[in-house]
Amino acid sequence: MPRAEELLKLRLILLLALATPTGASKVCAQAPATEAPAPPQAVVPTAGKNQTKEPTREHRFWDKKNDWLFAGVGAARTFDYFSTLNLRRRGDREILVSNDLVDNHAAFAVVEAAGTGVSIGASYLFHRYGHHRLERWTSIVHFG
Ligand SMILES: [Zn+2]
Repeated sequence: MPRAEELLKLRLILLLALATPTGASKVCAQAPATEAPAPPQAVVPTAGKNQTKEPTREHRFWDKKNDWLFAGVGAARTFDYFSTLNLRRRGDREILVSNDLVDNHAAFAVVEAAGTGVSIGASYLFHRYGHHRLERWTSIVHFG
């Protein structure tokens, strides 16, 4: 019979595993080295050049604006983390997350960090599909 505490710990480990993609890539790096040197295929140089020039109105995902927006999301999350703990200390109730979770500071911090990650992930999806306005707004609404 797993107790609630153990379930929470398990969820924490899962979140951490999801938040560290380096582990997965290391596993991939250990894949057979025979695949690594790609056979020199007939590369059409002109096509490659055109492709890199193509995104005219587009911007790099990690441009300066997004850097600042994501930093803002992270800051807002951090502020939320501390202000929520502060509210808890004053005896108010956190509606969005259960009190147990807020009391477990490490887990709560992970949840806040995951929220930042989800926000950046959503921004990236919007960026990927050309919705650059929505991409920015995803971060902006997180400041509130
Ligand atoms: Zn974009």
